[in-house]
Amino acid sequence: MTVAPRFGIHAGVWGFDWSADAAERTIGAAAAAGYDLIEIPAIDRARSDAGDTARALDRHGIAPAVSLALGTDDDITSADSARRDRGERRLTDAVAFASEIGATFVGGVVFSAMGRYLELPTPAARDRSLAVLRRIAALAEARGITLGVEYVNRYESNLLNTAAQTVAFLDDLGAPNVLLHLDTFHAAIEETSLAAAIDAAGDRLGYIHASESHRGRLGTGTIDWDRFAADLHTAGYTGPITVETFSSTVIGDAAAIDIGLWRPMWADPDELATTTLHFLRTRFAAAAIPTL
Ligand code: MN
Repeated sequence: MTVAPRFGIHAGVWGFDWSADAAERTIGAAAAAGYDLIEIPAIDRARSDAGDTARALDRHGIAPAVSLALGTDDDITSADSARRDRGERRLTDAVAFASEIGATFVGGVVFSAMGRYLELPTPAARDRSLAVLRRIAALAEARGITLGVEYVNRYESNLLNTAAQTVAFLDDLGAPNVLLHLDTFHAAIEETSLAAAIDAAGDRLGYIHASESHRGRLGTGTIDWDRFAADLHTAGYTGPITVETFSSTVIGDAAAIDIGLWRPMWADPDELATTTLHFLRTRFAAAAIPTL
């Protein structure tokens, strides 16, 4: 019997507003499009109530995952302890938010800032990140939560740019509830192939962002999705596969600048969500057919 992967979608497809109304609308739209999972950015707990999110998830019958990306001001690799403390606070809050909404996964750029570094990575910076993440991993484990370390391309972190580097980082971290979070957009930039990335990740592979080479609609860039589906099938991966694509017309200026998204990629989030799920299901169904 083949266990199909679980398909999810990033809430940012519908924008980054997470007021109670926006949360209800976004969660409802993801469920209506047919997804099993919605990835919710860790919200500012001072401004939004996790209870609203939990109730909307319950109402629409869709499971949550949580993600975040640290920034320069809360970089846990920094030599500045105030920045590290802010990062640890954000990670702690993200784990608490996940726990409150019933999520069992917190992923993203949790190991450094997401942004262009103007300095080389150092062993000391890596050790500072590991020290914080060991404490966060223990907190997460007590709540039954898995952490995902999402390595990103060279323009968005100086620390982890490949699956092999991430596996070595996880080995040094030594926490069984921390896995590798693979994003095809970043991997397509840095790896020799997506197959090589899957192979390097091995049984550490725990979460996937399905993201096109240009961050737009899946199937319209240079990533070979049939091949990727076949490679994941061969590797026996049955974890979540979450669509990550954004459009500048939807997410607003601040988020567009954060991500480096300088042009609109598509117009209608509901249409994008529905057709992309069909696209992925078709690819993964074909990959699961045994060849003679
Ligand atoms: Mn990603």
